[in-house]
Amino acid sequence: ATPAATMVGTTLGAQNGVLFKGGDVLERAKDVDTVVFDKTGTLTTGEMELTDVVALDDTKEKTATDGGRLTARERLGEDDVLRLAASAERGSEHPLAQAIVDGATARGVDVTDPETFENVPGQGVVATVDGEEVLVGNRTLLRENGIDPDSALETMERLEREGKTAMLVAHAGAVVGVVANADTVKPSAADAVRQLRERGIDVTLLTGDNERTARAVAEAVGIDPENVRAEVLPEDKSDAVEAIQAEGKRAMMVGDGVNDAPALAVAYVGTALGSGTDVAIEAADVTLMRGDPVDVVKAVRISEATLAKIK
Ligand code: ADP
Ligand code: MG
Repeated sequence: ATPAATMVGTTLGAQNGVLFKGGDVLERAKDVDTVVFDKTGTLTTGEMELTDVVALDDTKEKTATDGGRLTARERLGEDDVLRLAASAERGSEHPLAQAIVDGATARGVDVTDPETFENVPGQGVVATVDGEEVLVGNRTLLRENGIDPDSALETMERLEREGKTAMLVAHAGAVVGVVANADTVKPSAADAVRQLRERGIDVTLLTGDNERTARAVAEAVGIDPENVRAEVLPEDKSDAVEAIQAEGKRAMMVGDGVNDAPALAVAYVGTALGSGTDVAIEAADVTLMRGDPVDVVKAVRISEATLAKIK
């Protein structure tokens, strides 16, 4: 494109809340044939809310010892599960963690600071609360720490089919409960998917969240179940985009999180939401200032219009 056309396109973009980082990407956007959406914070608002706290019936019993002698045994109730989960998550900045802490506070459960805390990206957290190890996260987190999640899986799957992100809570080596957060699909997400498909563009969902939750969101926005890539670890998101491109596709990755940055960088066009993290915005070629997935269509149209004019 000529410098004049690039300026017209860039200006038109800026007026529409679509920031192109230069003339190259303004030219490339029209050739995108696959759009890969991140789920949380991109197709959904990312404003998680705690919806469920379940204490398992066959849960391990809370024990207290007095000089080595067992003096009290008491089942962990919902408030215990929530207090442990929220205290463990206090050290995390993940939106899932924030929702658990806020939900606990709102329910009048007192949350304490964990004595130790470790964040396991794409899996959850491992912490020490009241001298015991507490884990909050997915199935992989528990299994990799030698804890069998089986007794909680039925509860977890029920919550996931409702589109919620369910997390296992383990205490002192056993699973004791499940907590779930719900997120809201953005009002325009389905419209964005429909308009892209009308243009012959394939739409894929790429998420670290589990298969069932991902499918529930995909169904709500009109993405085919076979185009859902779930349980993808943060470091594997860029590989997933590269695999799509290795099939000869020109992919636009759309995301908001730190974990999306490598995928945004390798995509033919990386598009960050203005509501997203600075790391994502820096890695991307395009920023959608309104944080609205429907503006992906605008980016493609502005690219087409700009280049049509100069031919
Ligand atoms: P996404 O791609 O949806 O933004 P992440 O890659 O950050 O998700 O996390 C993937 C999964 O790992 C989450 O759905 C959750 O099950 C688990 N997880 C990650 N961080 C936490 C946390 N702080 N607490 C509990 N679970 C977590
Ligand atoms: Mg995200």
